[in-house]
Amino acid sequence: MITEPEASVPVLGKETVEVYVRHLKSCRNKSAGKQHRKCGCPKYLYIYRQGKVRRVSAKTGSWTKAQEQADGDSAAVGPGAG
Ligand SMILES: [Zn+2]
Repeated sequence: MITEPEASVPVLGKETVEVYVRHLKSCRNKSAGKQHRKCGCPKYLYIYRQGKVRRVSAKTGSWTKAQEQADGDSAAVGPGAG
């Protein structure tokens, strides 16, 4: 069995799901950018699929929980995804 290293770089033409954060105006870490994990601001999922981009709220402030949704993103896409 071959284990591949985790791919962190999005590949065009492939489905990708990434977690990012939208900092609140009051967040002192907002200058840290969208990949900052250590604040409690709302997390979102950036989903690239079939040439289309979706941005879905993870409905959590936890990066870990958002990442879990990204790993099994059918839950994040949810009803009405078509
Ligand atoms: Zn923040």
